[in-house]
Amino acid sequence: MRYYNDLLGMFTEGEKMLTLHFSVRECRCKCNRKECDAPPMDKKFMAALQRLRHKYGKPMPVNSATRCKYWNAAVGGSPRSLHLLGKACDIRFDSIEDREILAKLAEDMGFGGIGKALTFLHIDDGPKRSWTY
Ligand SMILES: [Zn+2]
Ligand SMILES: [Zn+2]
Repeated sequence: MRYYNDLLGMFTEGEKMLTLHFSVRECRCKCNRKECDAPPMDKKFMAALQRLRHKYGKPMPVNSATRCKYWNAAVGGSPRSLHLLGKACDIRFDSIEDREILAKLAEDMGFGGIGKALTFLHIDDGPKRSWTY
């Protein structure tokens, strides 16, 4: 089966995917430790993220998705971060204009947490709130 790979910007064969556009590889914890105990990405959250990808219509490369406690602390995440539950994703974009489009779509779709950084957009399914880094 062919899948669209947002990292490569092309259709590829064989890469394990969580959804049509999000691969297992890009969504796993980046700590690279054998003893990593990060939870899998939440299925409902990933389904919603995939719907967002369809509406946005552009690649949404993943900086950070699920995290173990070790990695969350290493990257300066909040101890209550939804990354720890596999219910948050940091997405890269090409321009600030794209970030705003993506943030608006995510908000309209009911994603709770929207965090804007210069190089990524944090999206989670927690309570409604927004911030800038
Ligand atoms: Zn980890
Ligand atoms: Zn985040």
